[in-house]
Amino acid sequence: MSLTLGIDLGTTNSLVGVVDSGFPILLADEEGRRITPSAVNYGSDGAVTVGHAALRARALDPARTVTSVKRLLGRRAGEGDWRPPYDLRALGTSPVDVSAEILKRLRAIAERALEQTVTRAVITVPAYFNDAQRSATKKAGELAGLTVERIVSEPTAAALAYGLDKLGEQGKIAVYDLGGGTFDVSILEMRDGVFQVLATAGDTQLGGDDVDRMVAALLWRRAGFTDAPDYEALPSAIQVRLIEAAEIAKKKLSTEDEALIELPFLWEKQSLHVTLTRAELEKLALPWVERTRIHCLRALSDARLTNADLAEVILVGGSTRMPIVRQSVREIFQREPNISQNPDEAVAMGAVIQAGILSGSLRNVLLLDVTPLSLGIETFGGLMNIIIPRNTTIPCKAGEMFTNAVANQADMLIRVLQGERELAKDNWELGRIDVPFPPGPKGSARVGVQFAIDANGILEVLARDTATNRDVVLEIQNTAVDVADERVEQMISESVEHAFEDMNERIWTEARLKAEELLPAVDQALAVLGSEIPAEDRASIDACAATVKSLLTAAAHDVKALKAANQQLDEATQNLAVLLVEKAMEESLARKGVL
Ligand code: ADP
Ligand code: MG
Repeated sequence: MSLTLGIDLGTTNSLVGVVDSGFPILLADEEGRRITPSAVNYGSDGAVTVGHAALRARALDPARTVTSVKRLLGRRAGEGDWRPPYDLRALGTSPVDVSAEILKRLRAIAERALEQTVTRAVITVPAYFNDAQRSATKKAGELAGLTVERIVSEPTAAALAYGLDKLGEQGKIAVYDLGGGTFDVSILEMRDGVFQVLATAGDTQLGGDDVDRMVAALLWRRAGFTDAPDYEALPSAIQVRLIEAAEIAKKKLSTEDEALIELPFLWEKQSLHVTLTRAELEKLALPWVERTRIHCLRALSDARLTNADLAEVILVGGSTRMPIVRQSVREIFQREPNISQNPDEAVAMGAVIQAGILSGSLRNVLLLDVTPLSLGIETFGGLMNIIIPRNTTIPCKAGEMFTNAVANQADMLIRVLQGERELAKDNWELGRIDVPFPPGPKGSARVGVQFAIDANGILEVLARDTATNRDVVLEIQNTAVDVADERVEQMISESVEHAFEDMNERIWTEARLKAEELLPAVDQALAVLGSEIPAEDRASIDACAATVKSLLTAAAHDVKALKAANQQLDEATQNLAVLLVEKAMEESLARKGVL
């Protein structure tokens, strides 16, 4: 089967994944790393290295190492130019070519992990990317040998990864994405089953890198080396070592209170030993994270919304792992953000899910959103009575009212069925419940049966005797999801195969029930009034009843004949029925003493 990759082509980091056996997974390189730095080194010997290897080369060769190239691909309107520490033209390359190198590396990681060639991909871009920037991304994909099936907005991909596509129509969410070099906040709304970006704001010069630089400068000040220059005046190789150590310490402080930074022989044979606490880091980072507030407020106001209109706020980007960032988001949006996904993997996961949907390999997952087979109960005569038809979107609720088919029945057995066949016996029984009710004449009981399926596919069957208001509840787990795909397909194909005979069987059962109702009624009427009708009427009624009886007991089910015989018996008893009604009225009037 041909696979479609999902790719997060990030400013700082990139990831690639694929849907494997129905599950979205991210693919790791030969050293088990799922995150590839978006860095490309153009060696003086002409060799091109990408990712971790390129970052290692940066310390020695900053001018030949391209990072954050995505910023050159697209800027927000009105933002100033960013001056990179390298000259692309001198390196004989372009932003699209550099992006293509990163994509080639991701493709190679995927092909190695999957042991097959892959030629198709879905790639994410920031929501604010315009047509030209989206085309440039697509072009980069093509240069890497990938047909770009779709370009997806990063916040939309993140929302998919968080499972928010299950949000109801008009549900609104905020996506707060603080990465390595950029900050984006987007407000999305679910419309006709797809996300629309209502507003987007942010800053392409605001990210975790800023914190790394601030921490690096602090470490240098704290080192206390004698005769050392200012941080800004340091050779770039030393700055890079400090920044790398700063980032490691920063990450550690997301989960720990203290980090020890040691850099042997950093400056003229002197080594650096500094302890940094989370409180110290947060003091540096607070003004930085507060810069995101204004963009969040702007996005909300552009979307003409307030905090209260949002169903969820989701966190995306590695920097949102910092506790102080989460605290700020909590204050800005006045709610607990959703942190159920890995923030640095959410966009990639969403791209993978989108790729899976496009290539059809996620059909299983999509089926979870609808009932794969009809759900119903068995009714009198062994027929399937559908309450929730197949392909109904869940969650859903439906019900019907049932009555007793025979007099003096004291309870009703409800068999809960799943399947597409007309006869109860051909469908699968999921469970049964017994509903007791006070005995009475035929048709006197009123039992309401309600089926409710929640978002997890759990079916709850509630039966209520409306006379006593007593409920009987049955819960059935995973009806919508437990059915293995092949069995569903088989059930559906069987139902098509047997549609004709099933239909005949249903019509026969209905005709039989009608006959079984008619015959005793006729016998009863004849017993009361038999002597008061003309002999020829009596003879024709007897003849018609005999025909019905013989058709009922015949080995072969002649549906047409039985229906016709029922009809004739009905007609032959017209006069009898009129007499019966008249007699009943006379009797009741007599009882009341009118006659
Ligand atoms: P981008 O979308 O910009 O490509 P990411 O979402 O991968 O980037 O975010 C990268 C940033 O996240 C880096 O600045 C990195 O230092 C930061 N980061 C990653 N993990 C953590 C962590 N545990 N604590 C704090 N920052 C982190
Ligand atoms: Mg990102």
